[in-house]
Amino acid sequence: MVTATTVDFEAVIGLETHVQLKTRSKMFCSCKVEFGAPANSLTCPVCLGLPGALPVVNRQAVEFGIRVGLALNCQIAHSIRFHRKNYFYPDLPKGYQITQHDTPLCFDGVLELPVRDVTGNPRVCRVTRAHLEEDAGKSIHLEGGTLVDLNRAGTPLVEIVSAPDLRSAEEAHAYLTTLKRNLSYLGVSELSMEKGSLRCDANVSIRPVGEARLGTKVEVKNMNSFKSVANAINFEIQRQKRILRAGGTLHQETRLWDEDKLETRSMRSKEEANDYRYFPEPDLTPFEIRREWVEDVRRNLPELPEKRLLRYLDDFKLARAEADYLVTERELGDFFEATVKLYDQPRKIAAWISGELTHALGERNVALSDLKLEPTQLVELIALVEARKLNNITAKEVFHAMLGSGEGPEPVARRMGKLIEASGASEDPAVATAIAEVINEFRDKAVKDYVEGKEAALKFLVGQCMRKLKGKVDPKELPPLIEKAAKG
Ligand SMILES: [Zn+2]
Repeated sequence: MVTATTVDFEAVIGLETHVQLKTRSKMFCSCKVEFGAPANSLTCPVCLGLPGALPVVNRQAVEFGIRVGLALNCQIAHSIRFHRKNYFYPDLPKGYQITQHDTPLCFDGVLELPVRDVTGNPRVCRVTRAHLEEDAGKSIHLEGGTLVDLNRAGTPLVEIVSAPDLRSAEEAHAYLTTLKRNLSYLGVSELSMEKGSLRCDANVSIRPVGEARLGTKVEVKNMNSFKSVANAINFEIQRQKRILRAGGTLHQETRLWDEDKLETRSMRSKEEANDYRYFPEPDLTPFEIRREWVEDVRRNLPELPEKRLLRYLDDFKLARAEADYLVTERELGDFFEATVKLYDQPRKIAAWISGELTHALGERNVALSDLKLEPTQLVELIALVEARKLNNITAKEVFHAMLGSGEGPEPVARRMGKLIEASGASEDPAVATAIAEVINEFRDKAVKDYVEGKEAALKFLVGQCMRKLKGKVDPKELPPLIEKAAKG
C-alpha cells in the first residue's frame, strides 16, 4: 500500500520575476528614474498620487516591454489596457498600483534551458505572460519609526510570469540565468538583484509523482540572489515533504526567505490574502500596439545569445564551454569581438577573458565597464608576451595591476620592474648573479643530478632562478645559461 510516508513527491515550481526598466522617466509621469538620488526628490503630483493628477503612458517603457517579450519568444498583444490593483502600503500613496490584469503586453513565450531531460532533449519552460506595471516606493524602517522614499514610486516594471514547468531548484536557477542572459542583451534594465532592479518570487508546491493535479502552493519572497532562490526552493520542497509524510496538511500562504537562518517563515496565509478588486484604469484608454511598431522593434533587436553562441563556435572555432561563457553577458562578448577585430587570435583572447578577466570581475565584484579595460590594452599585453618581454606569470600580474588604472600594460610593467628589456637574459647581470647563487646553493644536489643527466633537475633549477628573479625573465632563456654555468 502506498501511504504518505512512502510516496515519492515531485516539485512544481513557477517563478515571477520583476524587471525594473531603465527608461529616462517613470511609467506614467516625467519624473526621472534614478537610483540613489536624495529621498523624495524625484516625485510629482502623478507619482505622489495627488488628487486630479493624470497618468500618461511612457512609450519607451512599452517599447522596452516589447523587446523583453520578443527576447522570450512571446506573442505581443494587439491592444493593451491598464488596471488598478487595490491594496494598501505606506509606500503606495494612491492606494492602488497601475498594472495589467487580463491583457498583458506579452504572452505565450518559451525559454529553452541549458538542462537536458532524461531523453536528452533540452528542457523548456513556458513564459505565461510579461506585463507592464509601476513600482511602489520604499519603506525605510528605522528605530523609532518608518520613513518613506517615493523616488521609486512609478518606476516602470515588467513582471515575467513563468508557467509551473520547473521541477527542481536547479531548473529554477537555470531558468533565471537564461532569462537574465537574454535580457542583458536588450539594454532595458540594469538587472541587479542587489540594487533591486531584478527581483524574483517563487511559487512552490509538491505532488505525488504521476498526479496531474497541482498541490497547495506556497509563495516564497525576499530572495536576494539566484543562489538564495535555489536555496529557498530546496528548503520549501523539503519542508512540504516532511509535513505531508507526517500526515499534515499544507496551507496556501506567502513565506519569507531568511538568508541568515536559511529557512522560510510564514508571512501571511490565504485567509488574510488580499482581494485586489482589479478594475480598468479609468484615466488611461486602451492602447493599440501596431504591428509595424512590433516589427520595427524586432528588426532592431540586437543579436541574441543563442545566435551569438553558434557564431562563436562556427566563426571563431571556440570550445563550447568558452563560447557559452562569453555569451552569458552581452558586454563580455562585445569586448571579445572588439579585441578580435584588432588582433585575429580569437582563442588566445577568449582564454584571457574567461581566465584572468573573469577572475578579476569575481574578485572585485564589479561589471566589466568598471574595470576601464580597453581592447587595445589586452592586445598590447598579449603582444608583450609574444615578444617575450613578459612571461605568462608576469603578464597576469601586470594585467591585474593595470585594471582600473586606465594605463596600458607597458608603463605598468616597467614601473613594476617586470619588463624583460631587449638586451635579453644572457646580458642581464641580475640573471647571471641569480644563476650563480642557485648553482652555489644546490651544487651538491640538483646541480649534481643535472650534470649526471637528470632532466627534472634542470626544471628545478630554472624554477629556483625564476623565484630569485621574481619572474622578471623568460624561463625559456634560462636552460642554456644554467647549462653553461653548471657544466662550464
Ligand atoms: Zn512623478
